[in-house]
Amino acid sequence: MLDGFYRFKEEIIEKCVECGFCFEKCYAYKKTNYPIWLHLKDFFKDQKDAKNIKRFINSCIYCKYHEYSCPNGLILTELLPTLRNDLSQIYPGFGWAPGIVPSFLGGIMKSRRLYSWWRYMNNLLISEEYREKWDHRREPKKREVVFFSGCGIQLLPDIYYTMLEILEKLDIDFGLIDGHYNKAICCGTVMFLLGNYKYGKKVLTNLVKEIKKFGTKKVIIHCSTCNWGLTQIAPNILKDFDLEIIHASTYIADLLEKNPKLKKMLKPLNEKRVYAIHDSCHLVRGGDTEGARKLFNQLPEASISEMKHNKLNAICDVYCILRALPHRPLDLMFKKDNIPISKEALDGNANVLTSLCLGCHAIQSLLGQNIFNTFGRKKRRIPLKNWTIILGEYLDLPKRRGIEFWLKHFITRPFKDSLLHWILKAIKALLFGYLLNRIPPIRIPKYLAANKNMVKKNG
Ligand code: SF4
Ligand code: SF4
Ligand code: SF4
Repeated sequence: MLDGFYRFKEEIIEKCVECGFCFEKCYAYKKTNYPIWLHLKDFFKDQKDAKNIKRFINSCIYCKYHEYSCPNGLILTELLPTLRNDLSQIYPGFGWAPGIVPSFLGGIMKSRRLYSWWRYMNNLLISEEYREKWDHRREPKKREVVFFSGCGIQLLPDIYYTMLEILEKLDIDFGLIDGHYNKAICCGTVMFLLGNYKYGKKVLTNLVKEIKKFGTKKVIIHCSTCNWGLTQIAPNILKDFDLEIIHASTYIADLLEKNPKLKKMLKPLNEKRVYAIHDSCHLVRGGDTEGARKLFNQLPEASISEMKHNKLNAICDVYCILRALPHRPLDLMFKKDNIPISKEALDGNANVLTSLCLGCHAIQSLLGQNIFNTFGRKKRRIPLKNWTIILGEYLDLPKRRGIEFWLKHFITRPFKDSLLHWILKAIKALLFGYLLNRIPPIRIPKYLAANKNMVKKNG
């Protein structure tokens, strides 16, 4: 058996009866005609038929249909990362990309250079002064919880800023770890998904080491993919992984429920809101379907309208794009409800749509309605707000311009709020991070600079 995901492989070897129900509607099966379920056990044990397994995986479009469809109760959410990681150990050049994308792109995407690009972006988008403001939270010392920001949130600075201010305002004793900013630290999930097992394990190990410096095992997560990776994948990769992972919305909901004084800090807005919650497929597959609902139910004068597709049946934006790209790519830009999430929210009489996943929030902002709503003067039919920004409104935190504003303002004042500013930063990061594979200059926080001086003084 190859390294990683032992528990999952053993479970399949012991319990799968090879009936094939889970792949009944599988796109990769229809495309390749390869009954993968009959070969999983031999592949996991002795890597037999690796070539066909690879062919199958390269046709997969990540619709996730197979994950919860086993009549024998097996949950297959770890199947794809397991197969990709075994394949990456058999074929060192292997990299996964969805079936409709040319496979050489998989190799490009799984490169650790992707992280160098990301790290550059994270350095370029959040201002130096703002980083400095939170250095006291980064200083390793005993804390009640650690907040691991993830990497994605730093590409949407308004959400990053608001999240930190919420934790501060609610008087939470937290230590802060930023994903892929000053150090190569990450949950590794994207690398595991793309098949770069080695680098994924390295950055995950770094993350666990950093968390331990705060003397706690409790970790609050904002990114729903991190939440999934740290609950479902990490325990399969690191044998002694024993952290308690909690999504930030759930952590805050529990805190408010237990503490009426904190709950009183939530002030009603001057409008009644009905929220449509667009669930994140990764968050629900990590087992958290209720946290955000518990939080929204505590907001004054607010209610929830459930969407037709919710929880485990939630519509994934990425899948909608992958489904449309090969046959009708222009629909994604010009058709009214190319991704039917806004429509479902409106059908349920909601007046605000909130996505629990940062990626979906970004995709919804860009492609959620049509190109005229995105870039033109036309307003969205239903406003889209991240749950963090919504909570910030009830806590009366400063309002900031976010992705929707940038998309509508190619050049504006201040220049940092312009779409052009974001594009220029992305190009710079691509050049230095991906193409030249450089690491951005490392910023030494004040608490470390002071130590350095002390060491110098004492010889
Ligand atoms: S995620 Fe891939 S393997 Fe699973 S059902 Fe969809 S196409 Fe098939
Ligand atoms: S449905 Fe369940 S038992 Fe049948 S092949 Fe799939 S995992 Fe195995
Ligand atoms: S899953 Fe989280 S830490 Fe991992 S790459 Fe995405 S944002 Fe970063």
